[in-house]
Amino acid sequence: MNHEKNKYKNPNGKWSKYIRLIKDAVSMYKPCKTEDCFLLQRRADFRLWIDRGGIHESDFQNGIKLGEHYKIINHTLYRKKECIFPSRCKGNEHFILQLINQLPDMEMIINTHDWPKVYKYSALAPVFSFSKQINGSYDILYPAWSFWEGGPAIGPYPTGIGRWDIFTQTLTKEAELWPWEKKLKQGFFRGSRTSNERDPLILLSREQPMLVDAQYTKNQAWKSNEDTLNAPPAAEVTMEDHCRYKYLFNFRGIAASFRFKHLFLCESLVFHVGDEWIEFFYPAMKPWVHYVPVSKSLVEVGDLLQFFNENDHLAKEIANRGQSFVRTYLRMSDVSLYWYNLLKRYAKLSKWKVLKDPSFIEVKL
Ligand code: UDP
Repeated sequence: MNHEKNKYKNPNGKWSKYIRLIKDAVSMYKPCKTEDCFLLQRRADFRLWIDRGGIHESDFQNGIKLGEHYKIINHTLYRKKECIFPSRCKGNEHFILQLINQLPDMEMIINTHDWPKVYKYSALAPVFSFSKQINGSYDILYPAWSFWEGGPAIGPYPTGIGRWDIFTQTLTKEAELWPWEKKLKQGFFRGSRTSNERDPLILLSREQPMLVDAQYTKNQAWKSNEDTLNAPPAAEVTMEDHCRYKYLFNFRGIAASFRFKHLFLCESLVFHVGDEWIEFFYPAMKPWVHYVPVSKSLVEVGDLLQFFNENDHLAKEIANRGQSFVRTYLRMSDVSLYWYNLLKRYAKLSKWKVLKDPSFIEVKL
């Protein structure tokens, strides 16, 4: 009880700003009451279509070239033969096929590129994408293929990052090997230069390597050291090995980074840089409650690291809440539930009769 009372005490007032931000955020936070923790994001994505009185076939035609074209007819899944990234299609189809017997007829476009497709200046279309900018893109979010399979592929995971269910187990085990007290008091980041918004952290690490260990790795687009900010590429580090560090950084890449959810399972403190890019579950996680929000300029990073080093109990509590959220609400069954509610709502809003097309292939497990 005394500890509860004292934990936000700040004798010299130096860190009162951060202490207040944490205290206020924690007191305002209301944990999910239903099993469908991500309902608000789905509602936000469909709002536009509800206001327009539903999704019409002409809207659908606007999006026909923006992703993979699927039809569900009489509990059978069909797809236009070509799929630009077969393993991403498989990752998505895994979830749809699991639910197929419960799904009504519908027709949808699933974008398997990293970036969203429907912007303010483009024709409106009901396109499913795994990530988007919170303001500015109208795509309907779906859970990334990589919850099951489809990458991205990197050295330690040559067939692509996937199987969230297995990662949940291995990362939880690794977190047990690296309890909070044993973790290295250092910021950590490994990843490729999919966005130059990551540069300030890499530069900070070069100046103050004891504070932050942040290095660029190669990706498929790598041609020379210029692509790793004029330094040789660093070796890739498994997600499991991230658990050794107390402070883990997340940045957007081309779109939202796939690493965000994994970082929490280490039960380390996640520093989330920028707030524009989201996946379906991001908005249910709250700054200062589950992670530390960081501005894109990263000017405050030095202060934040010092603050959390001096207020270790607050860092640990945020890390605990972040891990607990992901373990409780972002299980494989929650991902399936999101797909189910998403497709049911979409089908209800769709206003045209879906017809068979002989050029489509049947998709089976
Ligand atoms: N990754 C990793 N270890 C590394 C580099 C990358 O596990 O050393 C993972 C990373 O967590 C992410 C994926 O590989 O999920 C792709 O990382 P990258 O930085 O290339 O792209 P991002 O998706 O973050 O834009």
